Formats: sequence, structure tokens, C-alpha cells
Amino acid sequence: MKAIVIEGPRSLALVDKPVPVPGPGEVLVRVKYCGICGSDLHAYETGFLQPGLTIGHEFSGTIAALGKKVDGWQEGDYVTGNNIIACGRCRYCLRGEDNLCLEMRRLGITDQGSMAEYVMVPAKDLVRLPDQSSLATAALAEPLSVGIHAVNRAVLDHEQPVLIIGAGTIGLVILAVLKHRGATSVYVAEPNQFRRGTASKMGAEKVIDPREVNLDREVENLTENRGMSLVFDCAGHAETIAQACSLGAAGSMVVVPSICYQPVTLNFLSLVTREVKINTAFGKTGREFREAVDMITVGRMDLSPLVTGVIDPEEAEDYFQQPKSGSIKTLVFFG
Ligand SMILES: [Zn+2]
Ligand SMILES: [Zn+2]
Repeated sequence: MKAIVIEGPRSLALVDKPVPVPGPGEVLVRVKYCGICGSDLHAYETGFLQPGLTIGHEFSGTIAALGKKVDGWQEGDYVTGNNIIACGRCRYCLRGEDNLCLEMRRLGITDQGSMAEYVMVPAKDLVRLPDQSSLATAALAEPLSVGIHAVNRAVLDHEQPVLIIGAGTIGLVILAVLKHRGATSVYVAEPNQFRRGTASKMGAEKVIDPREVNLDREVENLTENRGMSLVFDCAGHAETIAQACSLGAAGSMVVVPSICYQPVTLNFLSLVTREVKINTAFGKTGREFREAVDMITVGRMDLSPLVTGVIDPEEAEDYFQQPKSGSIKTLVFFG
């Protein structure tokens, strides 16, 4: 089977691997689409993964084979799956925080990923899709579930102003979830014009180019000097996280689902005297993943503006070398 693997820093290859055979409790999925995530691009840049590991974790496809002790599934069923494989037994799993599982495995990081013609998934982590037509958008269930988790980590007051910094995939799915839950004033700051346009299309009250206008001033104007009541940093830079913490009103909340590899310097005096709450958000729970699939399939949430490209596996190496500027979600199509 075709599989996309990382061989080292800035070294990616399309290789031929044997099709895995499902063991007890496992299901082999024939992948149709696999989304390229920011974390895949980071793995490519740094080569931090075990060389030869198949990357990818945002997939949809059909069941190709079932291992022993798998009930309720059949070959040909349309599925997607949660890439976080939790143990189900540790103290976090038992209280529903399986995104913090002590024995967590992750497709494309600890285990073979889904950017391949086939991926092996534990049956318990599969989620059924209603039909073939949902396969392309179902590959977005994983990032959407990350957005659901980030919003669940926040306290949302529908009338109050919310700011999202960064309109990549995660910023935009957070926007979609906030709108879905009835938030009225969601502002988006993003330097890329195409992404700003997408944020507008998806219901942002106003989009701001932080290179053109001073974001601090703009927030003062938009909120009559009060500040935002909720800020999400989806850009993942030390500067944007620090700025997110400075743009909130007294009593506001900052949620950071972004991954920032640098230490962040914060003015704690200002945070303490305004009682700004900072919440981080990591991954999603199994429940939130199922909710994401439901939102896309039953709820018909339209995430199609996020899909800016569909490529063949043969084009992946070029794409990783030079991702198109402003592209949001690129899917690899495995046929
Ligand atoms: Zn992802
Ligand atoms: Zn666990």
C-alpha cells in the first residue's frame, strides 16, 4: 500500500508498505481522504517522529477487514475515527478526560498514521458515517472536535465579544462552533487575506488584519474600551499568546488550544489585577469527537470553505516542501 512517511527533518517519502492485518479488537480501514494537519507539517520540519512512521490522523474511509472480537461493524461500512487512542482505564479516562489519558497513543505520532491507503484503528475508536457523500467532510471531524474541545474549555456569554487570533483550521472551526452555539460577536484577527475572507464567509462579525491596524486599538474601539470577554489564541506564537492575555476585559478568559514551542513571557501583574483566567485546551475527548461527526453529518455543518485543496499522494512531497500560502485544509485523496 502507498504510505506517506517522515524519514527525518524536511524529508518525506511516499513508500510502499505491506497492508497490515487487524488483530483482536482492531479494524482495517481503507482510507479515502486524509487531511494534512499543522502537526504533520511540524513533524516534517523537525523530523521528531520515529523514521519511517506513517503520518496523518484526520481520515475517513471504508472498513476493509475486521479483526477477531469486533462486533457491530461490517466490511464496507463508512467510517472515521478518533486518532487519540485512550486506555479507557486510567483515572483521566474514567472521568471522561480521555484527552489526558496516561497511556495515550496517537495515530501518526506513536502509532502508524492514516496518510496511507490503509490504517489500523481500534474498533472502539471508530465512528460510523451515514453514506459515501460524507467522506470528504468527515475528514474534518478531527479538527472540528479540537474546536469543540477548545470552546468547551471556555465560558461563553453569547452577547459578549469574542476574539479569535489566527484563522487557520483551528481558528476557523472554533468560529464555526461559536456561531453554532449562538455567539453573536466573534472577531477574527488574521494577517492572510484569503483566510480573513474565509472567516467572513463563516460568520465573523469583523475580520482584522493585525499588520494593517493596531490590534490593541481596534479591540478598544470594538468594545468601547472594555476589552474582549473571551480570546482564543490559534496562532501559537509567544507574541500572540501574550497579546491574547492583554486584550481581555477584567474577568475575561483566554483559551489557548494552539501549540507554541517557545516559552511565553506574560505580564502577571496585569493578569492578576484584572483576574484574567487562562485555560489551555489539548486535543479532544472521544465524546467530543463523536459530537463533531454528528455536527457534520446530522447537523450538516458546512465546513467546505476550509477545504482549499485535494491532492494525490504523489503530490504530497511537493506540498510539504512548500505549502501554499493561505491554504487552510488540504486533503490527500487515496482513491
Ligand atoms: Zn489534526
Ligand atoms: Zn487512560
